[in-house]
Amino acid sequence: MKKAILFLSLISILLVMVCVVIKTNQVADDSSNSGKTTETQASSAAETASTRTQQTVKKVQIYVDPALYDATVESESDYVQIYEGTDLTNVVGKVHRGSWADYVSETDTLIQITTDDGITGYIPQANGEIAEMKENDLPQSLADFKIVLDAGHGGEDSGALSTDGTIMEKNLTLSTVLTIGQTLSEAGVQVSYTRTEDEYIALADIASLSLAQEPDLFLSVHYDNYSYPNGNQGYTVYYYYPSYETTATTIGGSLADQLDLVNNGARFGNYYVIREQYVPAILIELGYLNSDYDLGVITAEDYAQRVSAGLLDALKTIVAANQATSD
Ligand SMILES: [Zn+2]
Repeated sequence: MKKAILFLSLISILLVMVCVVIKTNQVADDSSNSGKTTETQASSAAETASTRTQQTVKKVQIYVDPALYDATVESESDYVQIYEGTDLTNVVGKVHRGSWADYVSETDTLIQITTDDGITGYIPQANGEIAEMKENDLPQSLADFKIVLDAGHGGEDSGALSTDGTIMEKNLTLSTVLTIGQTLSEAGVQVSYTRTEDEYIALADIASLSLAQEPDLFLSVHYDNYSYPNGNQGYTVYYYYPSYETTATTIGGSLADQLDLVNNGARFGNYYVIREQYVPAILIELGYLNSDYDLGVITAEDYAQRVSAGLLDALKTIVAANQATSD
């Protein structure tokens, strides 16, 4: 009996060892694969490095003391007034906390900024953080193009739900984003992700993770819901800065060729992740989870592929337009 137990133990030890060896090989294979991917990316980046340039630009990110506003409610205390002159008498506009403007000049107490919608004026030094940031020249090819894909929600934050409560936005956004990433990578685009698994990432971290990549496009993917079932339908492409409205329109138009959903067009959206980045940043809502019609389209097997095809077309259009302006 003891011998039998000893024999069985020996067998199980051997089995465990075999498993460990197999597992180690898998890990090694995985890492060598990802090593290869990095290599390819590095070499393609090196090939295009001669045509790609970056410049350092002075930017101002608007700061408001968090004690002065309620982050859950939009109000006037989210904004800083912009004054025409250093005497601070004439208000010419306002800027939202966390948004970015171009640096023009400064005095001991004031910073002169120009906003994306073309307003130039002064804000108090205490309301601006001056930073030297990198700005890419416009990508001239798909291989030049760096995109950050953000799967909306995750972890404890499920996002929107289908009417019957079985489909969670956080899962759909992740699977959609992974399909988009695969399609774009295969076309040579440099792709990175804010998350590749079911985890919660704070909005501030999403913005800083993205900015660290210095992308040519940040794309946050979401699915919508309305206050009551079947109250709304279609997909919508949001921009924050007017400069990126054209990008939003291009993306919306390319998706229209692929999706059997209503195109709600390009709209201004006051969303954290696209407001807190000065790089081209877009948020797409890819249909309503609590619209019976939309849900049928969204849950079709080829939906993510169609979205991916539309986005690849959009990037091709953007690159072609960049080539045209540089000629
Ligand atoms: Zn969402």
